[in-house]
Amino acid sequence: MTSHLLPTYARVDLAFERGEGAWLTATDGTQYLDFAAGVAVNALGHAHPKLVAALTEQAQKVWHVSNLYKIPEAEKLAARLCEASFADTVFFGNSGAEAMECSIKMARKYHAAGGKPDRFRIVTFEGAFHGRTLATLAAGGQKKYLEGFGPVAEGFDQAPFGDFDAVKRAVGDATAAILIEPVMGEGGVRVVPPQFLKALRELCDQRGILLIFDEVQTGIGRTGELFAYQRMGVTPDIMALAKALGGGFPIGACLATAEASKGMTAGTHGSTFGGNPLATSVGNAVLDVVLAPGFLDDVRKNSILLKQRLAELKDRYPSVIAEVRGEGLLIGLRAVVPNGDLVSELRAERLLTVAAGDNVVRLLPPLIIGEEEMSQAFGMIDRACARIVKNLTQKTAAG
Ligand SMILES: *Cc1c(COP(=O)(O)O)cnc(C)c1O
Repeated sequence: MTSHLLPTYARVDLAFERGEGAWLTATDGTQYLDFAAGVAVNALGHAHPKLVAALTEQAQKVWHVSNLYKIPEAEKLAARLCEASFADTVFFGNSGAEAMECSIKMARKYHAAGGKPDRFRIVTFEGAFHGRTLATLAAGGQKKYLEGFGPVAEGFDQAPFGDFDAVKRAVGDATAAILIEPVMGEGGVRVVPPQFLKALRELCDQRGILLIFDEVQTGIGRTGELFAYQRMGVTPDIMALAKALGGGFPIGACLATAEASKGMTAGTHGSTFGGNPLATSVGNAVLDVVLAPGFLDDVRKNSILLKQRLAELKDRYPSVIAEVRGEGLLIGLRAVVPNGDLVSELRAERLLTVAAGDNVVRLLPPLIIGEEEMSQAFGMIDRACARIVKNLTQKTAAG
């Protein structure tokens, strides 16, 4: 059957009918263990009863009213996000890219409001991913995504990952902010060393510029703290969230201090759907679960277990896995074989994973993953690696 969807995705020929917890059932009835979690979105797995209840309850009251009026569910979610973070204020959108757009606009407006409209440039990092809008693509700076889409949005200066001298050189009189993912997700689960983030913070303070963290992928418990910055011990001025915040319902958020957001007065930014009652009700339900006592302790415990067992598999299959890295349940296997091959072999074992840059396979289980499911996953990874090794050996023997 021909598809009438714009063919911008290289989709796997697989569709799902329903999900429960960490499991997805395909239309042919096959069960898959979901270590992709909708690319770090389904933090509470599929069909979590609390999220289903929050969504259906709100659906029977009111779906959408627009931002012409007060939205109590959005007020509540914003207050809770601020209570749990460095932030004083929140803007809601519907996606990660929108959360980033708000962050970028806010950083520029901050300096404009301070009488320095020429300070609009933002220093970003090579290999970063911030979204697919024209500005966020320019921020990410990846040629493969920018090509053919006309002039690159002005105002972004890229430094190589982890190169502090290059950052210092890139920061000038026109710099408004530095933007970084505390753990680079799409770029291959590269963890930014906390000392590096600290150095960025100091540089920002010295130069009067803002520090923006893109926590669209790392936020809401993924790294074992509610936010990765809390784990790293470095606080930003502005932070973008999305993915797990709605547990699968689209929502994005830009969090900021009162100071950093001082230019964003009435009329300066907006979104028709942003912060609607459905999305923010679900967001509140996500926080109810993630902030419950012990939840993040379990994420950290499972992370240690998962990484230990994966390290064993790496030692057993050095011709398949080169490195295990990441924080919390954002884990990367840097592959020796092409990462796409490993993803396919894992899928053949009924384990869903996601490829990332730097030849990495991402393991992003729902944060509610249990020990039994993790040990099933090890069995699947073990068998997939064994099969790859066998195929490699046969190829070598034949060649
Ligand atoms: C996924 C992601 C985005 C973009 O989010 P969308 O919802 O696809 O717009 C931005 N930044 C990071 C770090 C991401 O992982």
